[in-house]
Amino acid sequence: MQTNNTPQPVISLVCPCYNEEEVIALFLQEVEPILNDIGKSYEIIFVNDGSRDATMEVLLDAKQHNPCLRIINLSRNFGKEAALTAGLDYARGEVIIPMDVDLQDPPSLLKSFIKEWEKGYDVVLAKRVDRSSDSRAKILSAKYFYKIHKRLAHVDIPENVGDYRLITKKVLTALQQLPENQRFMKGIFAWVGFKTTVVEYKRDKRQAGSTSFNAWKLWNLALEGITSFSTVPLRVWLYLGTLISTFAFFYGSFIVIKTVIFGVDSPGYASIMTAILFLGGVQLIGIGVLGEYIGRMYMESKRRPTYIVEDEY
Ligand code: UDP
Ligand code: MG
Repeated sequence: MQTNNTPQPVISLVCPCYNEEEVIALFLQEVEPILNDIGKSYEIIFVNDGSRDATMEVLLDAKQHNPCLRIINLSRNFGKEAALTAGLDYARGEVIIPMDVDLQDPPSLLKSFIKEWEKGYDVVLAKRVDRSSDSRAKILSAKYFYKIHKRLAHVDIPENVGDYRLITKKVLTALQQLPENQRFMKGIFAWVGFKTTVVEYKRDKRQAGSTSFNAWKLWNLALEGITSFSTVPLRVWLYLGTLISTFAFFYGSFIVIKTVIFGVDSPGYASIMTAILFLGGVQLIGIGVLGEYIGRMYMESKRRPTYIVEDEY
């Protein structure tokens, strides 16, 4: 996979790009001086995730000016998680730092990352202390996602931590041992563990371009996050079912006894309808949850690659 034969760098930045023509120049303008300041050899791996704008041209042009850039061009849009996975697979540095190109991950943190790494940490997380740049809906949904996830799954995903972090080669090797091809990176990162520390920052607004995550995409990401790390949604039906049948048994006994003692009274249309509709709904939800998992098992069982690389520069 590593066809590049320049010497192995110390730092690998991995940046997935989807329709980012406007920010790439800005990004490099900010990041390059900081990397030069740090004074270690580096590579910046841009993964072009099937952009529909001039991202690829902008990247190729930027590479003319800085030979430390590497470009992985995916054959189509595979989504951020897959693009990031691709970039990680190509990274050759001793430390690897996934980073968004929209400058929402402040480049100034790179120095703190390296400092913490030099103290001996294998994972340095960047924790947002202030999300005022995000919409209220996003903040709220994120909050509840972490809450629910913490309840349901056995891995603890640190709250308000994105993909922006430093990991060492050792951690990356561990990540790559996880064979799933639908990769919920936040969860996978947390699952592997290692000696971890946190640096805090304030998340800025996107510098240019627009977010490609709408509510529906975020919802699906959340589902992915929960189903790939927890089977609680599957097992809850056992308990709910038991509860409902227990209730039904007692209610049934009550009706039978009442009928035996007082005889048949007028038919209870309302209660029958309520029971049928309620139980029908509950069963459909249960089947839906099964479907979520079976669908994922089906996709996973195909063993398709997570991404396809068209070419590499
Ligand atoms: N991205 C990607 N493929 C996609 C969507 C997004 O590679 O299908 C990249 C995007 O270029 C950016 C990063 O993932 O570098 C984060 O995306 P965005 O800023 O849109 O997400 P947000 O910050 O709003 O969560
Ligand atoms: Mg962003």
